[in-house]
Amino acid sequence: MILKIEKIGLSLEAELLNKLLEIGKTHYQKEFGGFLIGYYSEDNRHLHITDTVLPKRYQASKYSFERSTEGIENEFTEFYTGTPIKIYIGEWHTHPNNSPIPSATDISAINTIINNKNTSIANPVLLIIGYSKNTVDFGFYVWFENNLYKYD
Ligand SMILES: [Zn+2]
Repeated sequence: MILKIEKIGLSLEAELLNKLLEIGKTHYQKEFGGFLIGYYSEDNRHLHITDTVLPKRYQASKYSFERSTEGIENEFTEFYTGTPIKIYIGEWHTHPNNSPIPSATDISAINTIINNKNTSIANPVLLIIGYSKNTVDFGFYVWFENNLYKYD
């Protein structure tokens, strides 16, 4: 699967998407999510999303999801020392019985990521999985120069 906006191309395996959906569904009717891991192409124009790290600590409700990195720091390090070097590139979470449109909380969470000196990624990716019993809708977004862009 390859998505393109002018700024940054995005690619990931359908297998990973299905995995995230299945994990998310086990937390129905609450939201659930985690961290997206991947790597940039050499020219920095293309982002490959390859893995997820799941939080050990989080707070979730039907309409909110807040994760912590507590206790999973080593999992990020493992990716960072592999080949290719994979890094934290964004976040994903579900919207049970809802559309994959970022809430005000989601937007402010992205701002927190941008302003976090420890992570300092310029273009975090946000994946929202909106699903209900019979439907699923994936919303991919990337933060670029103070705006959130949606991939079609
Ligand atoms: Zn959300």
